[in-house]
Amino acid sequence: MTVPAVHRIEFPVDWEPGHVAAYLVDGPETVLFDAGTPGEDAREILRDGLGAVGFAPADIDHLVITHPHVDHIGQVETVLDAGSPRLYAPASVEQRFARDEADLAAVVETNAQAAGVEDVAAAVEMSVRSLTRNRRLLPPADVSRWVEPGETVSIGGFDYTAVHAGGHQADHLCYAADFDETRTLFSGDMAIEPFRSVGLHVGLDNGVGETIPTFYEGIDRLGTLDIDRVYPGHGPVHESFHESIAQSRASLDNLCEWVTTLLDSGIETGAAVATERARTDRERSSLLPESYGMVLWLEQQGVVTSTIVDGVRRFRLAP
Ligand SMILES: [Zn+2]
Repeated sequence: MTVPAVHRIEFPVDWEPGHVAAYLVDGPETVLFDAGTPGEDAREILRDGLGAVGFAPADIDHLVITHPHVDHIGQVETVLDAGSPRLYAPASVEQRFARDEADLAAVVETNAQAAGVEDVAAAVEMSVRSLTRNRRLLPPADVSRWVEPGETVSIGGFDYTAVHAGGHQADHLCYAADFDETRTLFSGDMAIEPFRSVGLHVGLDNGVGETIPTFYEGIDRLGTLDIDRVYPGHGPVHESFHESIAQSRASLDNLCEWVTTLLDSGIETGAAVATERARTDRERSSLLPESYGMVLWLEQQGVVTSTIVDGVRRFRLAP
């Protein structure tokens, strides 16, 4: 089998490093990995990007989604409307999208309060809004193939193994295939150079306490692969797979240590940790699940203990 050309299409986003990428694999049949951001401008970018290499949205035979985040599923509808591609998504998304909104709201309300968030209503609204938006952008009824973790799927003339890597997002799958001699990974928001994606996992829904251990597990699972070239959703295409995996692991280790130091200095809640991080990092709301997840994980590790006072979980270093 000859090696297919891989074309990258970048959509601008307003966070670092300023873009999200989708990839067109020009093989025996065409495969598009991820579908950019929503909206009219992004639709044009997709059309132009495909047009530059002689394709149109109607020419896509297979559309593969690594994970259901807004910047990866924005133009699913454009591709579906243009032709009749097969649409692949992680199997666990089906249940996640079937989540009852009232129940999600109730759980997020409890967890946001426990994390020490001041504007609990805003956190609840954000969760419900992103659920309804994401399942509108990636309609479950349109998915032709739900992909299970670990499964090998033949897509467009190549065998891709779906490697589960949660933590950034609970359902996240990376796709590994051999393009002739080149062991290739479409990594979504994992194995990015030179940074680690933030742990959003399930947001503040049930399972926020699994954010960090699941992230480690995904990194370690990826670490068992041998990969020559990585096509990530953010940052450059690179050939430093093991370095990027080691960096991600080190970044979690560092965060772990830093949060322990914060707790030692009297910071007590998940929200307060997020506030400290937001001084030098991104927007606070996107740091909340990872920050709260981290203190919960430190408690699971026996490093800290917590007590609930007026619904807020307050942490301190274990004696
Ligand atoms: Zn993402």
